[in-house]
Amino acid sequence: MNIVQIYKQFPTQNDCLDYLEHVRWQGKPRCPYCQSDRVTPMPKERRHHCNNCNTSFSVTVGTIFHRTRLDLQKWFLAVALVLNAKKGISARQLARDLDVNKDTAWSMAMRIRNAMVERNDRKLLEGVVEMDETYIGGKPRRGAGVETKRGRGTNKVPVVGVVERGGKVRAKLVKDVKAKTLASFVREHVDVKSATVITDEFKGYIRFAAFVNHETVNHQKWYVEGNLHTNSVESFWSLLKRGIIGQYHKVSIKYLPRYIDEFCYRYNNRQTADLFDQTISHALGVINV
Ligand SMILES: [Zn+2]
Repeated sequence: MNIVQIYKQFPTQNDCLDYLEHVRWQGKPRCPYCQSDRVTPMPKERRHHCNNCNTSFSVTVGTIFHRTRLDLQKWFLAVALVLNAKKGISARQLARDLDVNKDTAWSMAMRIRNAMVERNDRKLLEGVVEMDETYIGGKPRRGAGVETKRGRGTNKVPVVGVVERGGKVRAKLVKDVKAKTLASFVREHVDVKSATVITDEFKGYIRFAAFVNHETVNHQKWYVEGNLHTNSVESFWSLLKRGIIGQYHKVSIKYLPRYIDEFCYRYNNRQTADLFDQTISHALGVINV
C-alpha cells in the first residue's frame, strides 16, 4: 500500500477506526481490560462500554496507537512510508513527509518498529544458507586510514546473519564472534541436519563441519566458484549499513537491535502482498496472521 492508496482508502478518522475495529475484533468487540464480550457500543464517541468491568474503551487501547493525539490517517501514512522505504527512513524525513515535529516522528517510527517483528520466525532456514558477520556503528579509529577489510578489531559491534538463498534472513547483534557464539546462532536459526552453510574462511567457523554441512569461500580468489558465494548475505549487510549510515546517522547500540529487526522484516516480507494489513495486525496485537 502506498500513500496515495492510504489517502483513498482512509480519507477520515472514522474510516481508520472502522478498519482497526474490523482487524482487531471482526465485528465482535471484546473489552481489552477483562476480555468480556458483554460490551455496548457508544457510536458517537467511537468507544465501547464494558458491562462486566464497567470501563469504556476504544479500539486503540493497548496498541501502538494508544493515547495518540495524531490523526490515525497520519499513523497509517507513517506505517506505509516506513514499510516502503527499502533503505529505511530517518525521523527528519518522516517529520517532513507527515508535517509533524522531529521528536513525534521519531517516537512514531519507534512504535511502528514494534509492529515490524516477525511472529512466525521460528521456522529454521533450509537448503543453501549463507552466513557472515559484520560490524556496525562506532567511529572508525583515528588515524586508522582505511578501515580493515572486515572491521574485526575495531570498536564497532558485531552483527551476525544467515540468509537462505531465495528465502529469509535472520540477523542479530552478538556479544562476540567466537566459535561458540557463531555455532549457537546457527543452531538457533538453521536446520543443521539438512542445510548447507556457506561462510568465508574466518576462524570462528572452523569447527562448523562437526555439526553441519559446511562450505567455505575464499575471498582472495577473483572468481566465484559456481554457487559457492555469500553474495545474498553481503547484499543484506550493504542494505542495512547504507540504511543506518544514510538515514539514521547516530544509531546508538541501545536501538540497534530494533533497526536490525526492521531491516529483516522488510527483507523477509519483500513479496508479502498485504504487508500493510499484516503490520497493522501486529500493531493491534492480533497475532494469528
Ligand atoms: Zn471489561
